[in-house]
Amino acid sequence: MTTVPDGVPQVLLHHIGGEDVPSADGATFDVLEPVGSAVYVRAAAGGAADVDRAVAAARRAFTDGDWPHLRARERARVLTRVADLVEAQGPRLAALETFDTGLPIRQARGQAARAAENFRFFADLIVAQRDDALEVPGSQLTYVHRRPVGVAGLITPWNTPFMLSSWKLAPALAAGCAVVLKPAEFTPLSASLWPQILAEAGVPAGVFNLVHGLGEEAGDALVRHPDVPLLSFTGESATGALIAANAAPHLKGLSMELGGKSPAVVFADADLDAAIDSTLFGVFSLNGERCTAGSRILVERRVYDEFCERFAARAAAIVVGDPADDGTEVGALVHPEHTAKVLSYIEIGRSEGRLLAGGGRAPGLTGENYVAPTVFADVPPTARVFTEEIFGPVVVITPFDDDAEALAFANAVRYGLAAYVWTNDLVRAHTFAQRVEAGMVWLNSHNVRDLRTPFGGIKASGVGHEGGYTSLDFYTHRQAVHVSLGDVHTPRFGAGAHA
Ligand code: NAD
Repeated sequence: MTTVPDGVPQVLLHHIGGEDVPSADGATFDVLEPVGSAVYVRAAAGGAADVDRAVAAARRAFTDGDWPHLRARERARVLTRVADLVEAQGPRLAALETFDTGLPIRQARGQAARAAENFRFFADLIVAQRDDALEVPGSQLTYVHRRPVGVAGLITPWNTPFMLSSWKLAPALAAGCAVVLKPAEFTPLSASLWPQILAEAGVPAGVFNLVHGLGEEAGDALVRHPDVPLLSFTGESATGALIAANAAPHLKGLSMELGGKSPAVVFADADLDAAIDSTLFGVFSLNGERCTAGSRILVERRVYDEFCERFAARAAAIVVGDPADDGTEVGALVHPEHTAKVLSYIEIGRSEGRLLAGGGRAPGLTGENYVAPTVFADVPPTARVFTEEIFGPVVVITPFDDDAEALAFANAVRYGLAAYVWTNDLVRAHTFAQRVEAGMVWLNSHNVRDLRTPFGGIKASGVGHEGGYTSLDFYTHRQAVHVSLGDVHTPRFGAGAHA
């Protein structure tokens, strides 16, 4: 096991109503670090009683507290302070995240910076928001104002956990909601930094609550809780479907960011150097544990052999190693269970395609979670490694003959999160974008984000989008208030009516 960083407590506790507390029944679960697969901490294992306490605290803060009623500018000031604190703690935060997740440290630093940016962005957005409408039809004044929906349940996955929780916390708090966060059980460490950061920035006790625990226990209790009208979930499509079913009796608002198997389509007229650089980083960065990974590369047959050869050579040269080393490009996968799943797909791939690079554990490294960047070529669109999300450093490459075939292959899976298109033909690029089944399309670029735009997928990749005003729409509802200005003609019955 690598050395446990300073400041990691012996037990990770829940944070409820401003207090760090153990589970009501004292239960805990083990958390492993990915480099040595050793238990390095225990975390409180939340159950229905803990979720009940957290939701009650959030509900009190929402109904009796000031947070939802603060002027947007005041909430924005608090959010900006959160961003400053996250930024100031960036190096420590990235080190903890790397220790807990196995992400390469340089990429973890980028994720910490993005978490700060998420708070800065939503602070700006609520101040700039100006859609409180005023209408004066005749002698009635109608105004519309946004109100926070209430207590939001936020359920997050183990990949880039701090950044992804900031992506939910920032808009929920900006909107004036109170929240209960349930982080993934594989990677609970960075979430335990939030209570101190948020309290120091001025978020009142009870507005933010944290319950650790397993999905089917703490997560499920949050999903079924009647006082949680909103659920923002990021995770696997199968979990999303289960959550949607369990939330249905309560008619909850749902935002679901789910799995992906995104195509990167390379036409023969593309800048091949740029396409190779970008598709390589697009699938292997963040250890391939990235929802928008371009994990299916479709290449026009005229340049297919050259692309495969150059791509495989680059994949074989990727530096796999200790995630804490600055030179590491692919670190350790998050958990032995996940590694076993990725390795089992690599075995399946051997009979479904032609292995060009990798093919199992990375050689020369001690530790069971190091997987070599793996490339399969000649993979048919019906193959399991083509259609199923692997969520690790594994990519398939498939040739196509023309635009129609490229589109058919791109759309041949149940997912629809992102798509990447490489071509120098403007018309072809935009035509493809209009027809590909994906929530987000990048033309000649990869994953450069503008936080004002919606982020999310279609088909099995998600329900609803987050980002920009789309996030604020999710965490608020628009209430119309109709005010008589005195001389209003309202419909009335005849007998006894006042003149
Ligand atoms: P997961 O679905 O296993 O778990 C996600 C969270 O849901 C965890 O906190 C887990 O404890 C909880 N959970 C599990 N079962 C639950 C239940 N029955 N009720 C309530 N909560 C439950 O996902 P994961 O393995 O942690 O994350 C990887 C997945 O997340 C991949 O499929 C990836 O594509 C997806 N992802 C999507 C996006 C996106 O924006 N679309 C971003 C990141 C990750």
